[in-house]
Amino acid sequence: MSAADHTASTSEPTEPDLTPALSEALRRAAAAPALVVACDYDGTLAPFADEPMSAFAAPGALDVLARLAELPGTTVALLSGRNRAALAQVSGAGAPVVLVGSHGSEWEGGFDAPLDDDDNALLARIHAELTEIASGAPGAHVESKPTAAVLHVRPVEDPAARERATARALAGPAAADGVFVTKGKNVVEIAVREASKGAALERLTEQAGADVTIFIGDDVTDERGFARLRPQDVGIKVGPGETAAGHRVQDIPAVVRLLGTLADLRG
Ligand SMILES: [Mg+2]
Repeated sequence: MSAADHTASTSEPTEPDLTPALSEALRRAAAAPALVVACDYDGTLAPFADEPMSAFAAPGALDVLARLAELPGTTVALLSGRNRAALAQVSGAGAPVVLVGSHGSEWEGGFDAPLDDDDNALLARIHAELTEIASGAPGAHVESKPTAAVLHVRPVEDPAARERATARALAGPAAADGVFVTKGKNVVEIAVREASKGAALERLTEQAGADVTIFIGDDVTDERGFARLRPQDVGIKVGPGETAAGHRVQDIPAVVRLLGTLADLRG
């Protein structure tokens, strides 16, 4: 599309980064009586930052989510690997936007069933082993979640040290019996309870009675979400890489624009 096309159509929302198929899918979703819009946070609505609590949402992202969440028959959720408290703090999002943390194991009001003594002992052991691994890779740190411990190696400057720490985590605590491992970009999460974005999306869809569910994400962990969508749902992958999603957009600003288009169509 040329610059002249943009100027000529300023009275209408222009979406140079949407394929015809995605435009059509958004139109169909916007007309659904009950709609769920679920978005990953990091890499989807917020650029990555070395300090995780500085990964703020892109300009306009929170406004458009709030706008969508106010529309009738529309449930908007952030579905993140972060623990729910951190997700609330860094995103600044809150009701009516639903926050789902720890890959779907933490919902509003906390997570479903408390861990038993065996789970707690296993979690403590995993945390200790990851802490030991992180101490050998300057910059790495371990995050505690209610049902998981997470090794973060993004800030490690030496690529060899980063890979070594990741490999040690995968060969050590991640290989233990009874754990659930989620590997993301520079992240190894080891949980003592199963949690997946796929299961979380199914629960959101069911609770909202959604005719159409839209899910947008950028990371390998989001693939479990895309894989569980129904034929009428809309999966949107952000950025390059193999995906089970039916659609793709280039980057975070394109996500904000498409959410704006959806709000315009539905509003
Ligand atoms: Mg992400």
